[in-house]
Amino acid sequence: MNNERKAYRAHILAVPYPSQGHVNPMLQFCKRLVSKGTRATFVITNFISKSFNPKSDTVSIDNISDGCDEGGFTQAIDVADYLKRMEIAGTKTLEELIKTYQKSDHPIDCIVYDAFLPWVLEVAKKYDIKGACFFTQACSVNYVYYYVHHGLLTLPVSTPPPVEIPGLPPLDLSDMPSFIYVHGSYPAYFELVLNQFSNVEKADFVLVNTFYKLEEKVVDSMTKVCPLLTIGPTIPSFYLDKRLENDNKYDIDLFHSDPSTSIINWLNTKPPQSVVYVAFGSMDNLPKSQMEEISWGLKSANFHFLWVVRDSDREKKLPKDFIQESREKGLFVHWSRQLEVLSNKAVGCFFSHGGWNSTTEALSMGVPMVIMPQWTDQTTDAKLVQDVWCMGVRVRPDRDSIVRREEIEGCIREVMEGEKGKELKNNATKWRDLAKAAVSEGGTSDINIDTFISQLP
Ligand code: UDP
Repeated sequence: MNNERKAYRAHILAVPYPSQGHVNPMLQFCKRLVSKGTRATFVITNFISKSFNPKSDTVSIDNISDGCDEGGFTQAIDVADYLKRMEIAGTKTLEELIKTYQKSDHPIDCIVYDAFLPWVLEVAKKYDIKGACFFTQACSVNYVYYYVHHGLLTLPVSTPPPVEIPGLPPLDLSDMPSFIYVHGSYPAYFELVLNQFSNVEKADFVLVNTFYKLEEKVVDSMTKVCPLLTIGPTIPSFYLDKRLENDNKYDIDLFHSDPSTSIINWLNTKPPQSVVYVAFGSMDNLPKSQMEEISWGLKSANFHFLWVVRDSDREKKLPKDFIQESREKGLFVHWSRQLEVLSNKAVGCFFSHGGWNSTTEALSMGVPMVIMPQWTDQTTDAKLVQDVWCMGVRVRPDRDSIVRREEIEGCIREVMEGEKGKELKNNATKWRDLAKAAVSEGGTSDINIDTFISQLP
């Protein structure tokens, strides 16, 4: 072992699932690890490297192939094809990468890998390297999948709901992750989320992007079945404990942002808590009829709003002339720097799909939510936001699965006005303080990260 090898605590290789909602949480976690004296290398795909050339001040970046070097996910036929290609090309190129590092001055001591990629653990074990499975989504959601994977909950759910799972609130079918109650929907994704548990018993660590107080009971339940450590929320330090220098943004944007100065300038002209921020994550694909209802709901609620709408949706899905006619009240952008927006004091409510990152970002900034879940874990996140954390409301669709304008207007008013609005805001602020405490020195996530590092070779 040479001197340089001794200069850091351990070398961690991090392998994320290459999508917007998965890359940043793991990269943020790496930044924390580096701030505590480890070395970290973050592995992106050749396609992401070539197209976006991400950089980080403190974390090294390296590449593997996902078998789709020219177009990333869009090069594959579907998700099943993408996962297959990634496993084949990823295994080969990850092994090459490991061999290169093992011969260098910086051999790998541990591989942190996204739970969506269980094959990475097999590669780690082949080279006798420790493996840490990283769950990007809520612990509650993971535990539901754990139950299904182990046959503790059989599908389709036959006993009348609510479903009882230790540590979770009683769940109606529509509170479960959508793959469970919309029978046969997205089979490849369903397999993907269940496969997270296919070999997890071989992992040396299970890391979850949540914090103890947020999901206390389910964390206690799941800790009984695996070596679980809560390490989140993985929001840049600037927005929480401010201990990491220059950690004030996500480093990987797989979409091109509108100039953030013009968004922030616009927000700065608005009174505190007067703006509804509307954004449905990176994969949003709402039907035209739903986009129209949102438009009319926003119009009749009559608050200022900032709405992230892709170019392709503007012409095709918004009511004719809506953007023009909303000039006084609305700002439409293609993609925002969401953290900057949510931390702006003008924002009073986040109208969201309830993706896990969006949800943890809102609660880390103390912003109450209106959630319109679409699929996957968003339905369960919405349940937690409304009934457990009491920091938002969930819209209800009608019989045709469309959320009508009156419902949207009513939910926005509930969050933006009156006593209920104040209560939701107070609760959101409480969660913000608890999120800060978790990652601050001596907080639960901070201690867990130390524990993780202390157990590395
Ligand atoms: N995001 C952003 N700008 C936008 C919309 C989304 O920066 O205009 C970011 C957001 O901050 C979050 C991620 O994209 O980190 C979306 O992740 P989430 O889990 O909420 O949803 P998904 O994209 O996985 O559906």
